[in-house]
Formats: sequence, C-alpha cells, structure tokens
Amino acid sequence: MEQTLAIVKPDAVARRLTGQILAAIEERGLRIAAMKMIHLSRTQAEGFYAVHRGRPFFDSLTAFMSSGPAVALVLEGEGAIARWRELMGATDPAKAAAGTLRRRFATDIEKNAVHGSDAPETAAFEIAYLFNRLEIQGG
Ligand code: ATP
Ligand code: MG
Repeated sequence: MEQTLAIVKPDAVARRLTGQILAAIEERGLRIAAMKMIHLSRTQAEGFYAVHRGRPFFDSLTAFMSSGPAVALVLEGEGAIARWRELMGATDPAKAAAGTLRRRFATDIEKNAVHGSDAPETAAFEIAYLFNRLEIQGG
C-alpha cells in the first residue's frame, strides 16, 4: 500500500486547525499509519527541504517551518500520494480549488497549512527523515 508524508505546518497548528485537517484526512479514506508532534530546528528544516536549497524562498520557508510545533503523519492508502496532494490543493491558496485544505486554511503561498510528498522517492526520503520503523503502525 502506498505511503506519503504529511505535515500540518506550524501556521495551522498555531491556529488550532489540526483537528479539522485530521478529520478531512480520515473522511478522504486515508489511513493514519503514524503521527507525532515535532518542532524542527532550522538545520532540520533545511535538511527536510534540501531540494529547495537555492530557491529565493528557501530561507523564509525554513525559518517558517522551524518557527513552532507541527504535526507529522504517515498516510497510507491506494494512490495516497496523489490523493493527499489533491486534498491539499495548489501551493498558492489563491489557485487552490474550492474545498481543498489550502483554499480553506492557508494564509498565503508560504504559510499554506499542509505539506505532502510529491513522488514515491520523496515520500520514502521524507518518511525516513521524520519517523523510525517502530513508529509506523501496520493496518
Ligand atoms: P509542500 O512541499 O510543502 O507540500 P508544494 O509541493 O505544493 O508544497 P513546493 O514547490 O514543494 O510546493 O514548495 C514547498 C513549500 O515552499 C510550499 O509549500 C510553500 O510553503 C513554500 N513556497 C513554495 N513556493 C513559494 C513561493 N513562491 N514563495 C514563498 N514560499 C513558497
Ligand atoms: Mg513540495
């Protein structure tokens, strides 16, 4: 079964949106295989987003992602990567479809409430970056 890494980003945790986001995940039929609250250091955020190093938004993004607690999850299901990204909506909330989490909850293109892996390779990297095997529960 496909797995993907999801994060309820610091903006959404601070605004007490975690519960509504978890509800949307379960209503979409994705299984929560792992979940924990994390507070990334700046260095850990830079490692997580290493593919974006050199982008103009890298410094601001890693400052934001290390600014407060976040909730990390492993989601599982058929087509979990695509289904979670569909539920999140476009990166820029102004372009996100109605009903998506970013349309509902994002503040702007950076503080956009949620993260999701974009491919099987990045999902494997991101899950291993934040979880060990004992923290991931089988169905
Ligand atoms: P994520 O990887 O967080 O799931 P994504 O895949 O939709 O989001 P990416 O292009 O991977 O988008 O960008 C990673 C994150 O960097 C975005 O979610 C957002 O928080 C931030 N970001 C992306 N583009 C911009 C931008 N132009 N200005 C500011 N922040 C940005
Ligand atoms: Mg991405």
